[in-house]
Formats: sequence, C-alpha cells, structure tokens
Amino acid sequence: MSDRAHRETDDILVELIKRIEKIFKTVSFDEINLVPLYIDGEATQNQRLKRAKDFDEDFLVALIVSAVIESKNETDRALQDIYRLNYGWIDSLSNGTALPLREFDETKIRDSARKTAEKMFKRGYTPEEMKKEFGRLLRKWKNVCIFHARTEATRAESKARLDAMERTNVAGKRWDAIIDRVTRDSHRRIDGEIVALDKRFSNGLLYPGDPEGPPEEVMNCRCTMQPVDKAGLQNALKSGMIGSGGVQMDNTGAGGAIPRSDRDRQQRHANLYYEEMRNRKDDVAAISGNTGFSINDVSDIKNHVFRNTYELGEKNSYQIYAGL
Ligand SMILES: [Zn+2]
Repeated sequence: MSDRAHRETDDILVELIKRIEKIFKTVSFDEINLVPLYIDGEATQNQRLKRAKDFDEDFLVALIVSAVIESKNETDRALQDIYRLNYGWIDSLSNGTALPLREFDETKIRDSARKTAEKMFKRGYTPEEMKKEFGRLLRKWKNVCIFHARTEATRAESKARLDAMERTNVAGKRWDAIIDRVTRDSHRRIDGEIVALDKRFSNGLLYPGDPEGPPEEVMNCRCTMQPVDKAGLQNALKSGMIGSGGVQMDNTGAGGAIPRSDRDRQQRHANLYYEEMRNRKDDVAAISGNTGFSINDVSDIKNHVFRNTYELGEKNSYQIYAGL
C-alpha cells in the first residue's frame, strides 16, 4: 500500500538516481593519456609506488571523489525535499525541521582509490587494464551513491512522518511494506504491524530506515509508515496482535515475540537481534540478488557503510555513513 506522498517520494528518488547516473557517466578515463604513466615490469617497486601516489592524487582521486561528492550534494538536496514533503503530508501546519544529514568521509574514498592505484602500478598493469580497473572502481562508487540515496530517502520519509506524528495527536504507527518480489521477508512479515508511537516495531526499528537498525534491516528499504489513531491502536492491542506477523527469531537464540510493556526486555532483544544480524553471512548474497549489485559491491558497501561504526558501538545516528 502506498500514499500520495510516498509515491511522490519515489518520483524524487527516481529523478535523483538518474542525476547520479548522469554524474558518473560524465567521468571518463578515456580522456586521460595513461601511456606516460604506465611503468613496465622492469621498474622498481619504489618507482611504481611513487608513480602510483602522484597519479592517484592527480587523476583518480579527483575524478572519483568529485563524482561522489556531487552525488552526495544532489542526494542532500533531494532528502530535504523528501523530508518536507512527508512532514507536510502528516501535518500541513508544521513547517518541517531541518534534517541532519550523514556525512561522507572523503578520506575513505581516497584510501580506496589509492589502494587501487597502488595495486595497478605494483603489478604493472597495461593502460587497457588500468582503464578497466578504473571503470570497475567508478561503478562501485556509483553503486555506493545510489545505495546511499535509496536508503536515505526511506529514512528521510519515515523520520519526517514520525516527527510530524509526534507533534500531533497520533497514537500509533503502522509499518507499510511495499510488497513485491524484492521485499525483504522480515518486512513482508511486519507489513501492517501497529505499535504505539514511541515503541519499536518487532524488528527492533523505530521507523523504516531507522539508522540505529542493523544494515540488513535498513539498506535499500522501501517501506513506509502510516499514522494510526487511538481507536486503531487500541483495536490492535486488544486483538492481541501488534501486526500481521512478527520477526521470526528461530535459530538465532534471540527469543520470540516481546510484550510491548517490557521495554528493557525489548531493548535486550533488539541488541541480541542486531548482534545476530551483524554476524549473518548470507545477507550479502540476498541483498545482491535483490538489487542487482555484485556480491563484492554489496559486501564493500556493507563494510564501508555500516560495519565500522557498529563495531565501535557508536550510537549517533548520523555517523553511520561516516564509512563512506
Ligand atoms: Zn522495507
């Protein structure tokens, strides 16, 4: 199920991804004459490393970093639109507060580009091989940018809705999954789930795209959230169901459904659940299958974007993309 604002959010996202594709399309390595930079197999390791360093600073980094930064700026602008649109949709009287944006860490991009440049020079790549390798790197960063845009669009939409709901008399919220063949099983199961406004859904998230959730629950999510009035919430509570399903915790040792009154237990449950999700090995393949990105790219995105911060136990929501 989707509403007008969610459809308009999708439209903004589609346009944004087109702009990101365009930005990366304009980066061409063909214009760079690689031949003078190429050092054959006779060169010493030091010569190659020095050349790689000069080369990386002059060309590779500049090209890739500027494309990523430009994509990030486009995404920031679109996220503000999405936030305003959805905030306004819930409460047209509110003016919408500014959405704090996650920051890209330029040094991570530089490190990744530098590593690739060093590898090429160490191994004495031919100009043709270099161009191919550049192309691979560029595609990877384009995918990172698109992944970022998609994930953040969902977060901006739902966070705006939650912020607006908190300022009105809305009692509860309902998770609405966009059901199709690429919907995560865990979100298919909680489609229609209703909880009080300040409670977490049974997958541990406060809202779709909640940055405190594990990567597996938020990456590329397209779900949305609807307001529920007091009667709707009471009905859901009375029926003994918080939704059409619940996250199945079988085989995880993390326990089953949680009574909504038991907040501590819920938090512990969420922690165990996140821990379990972090340790999962099969998620990368699943996300790859769902998005069409290669397993390597998804794995890189997951590690760059999510894992580092989680291992530090960082709670600040807006640091999660620092790995980019
Ligand atoms: Zn989802």
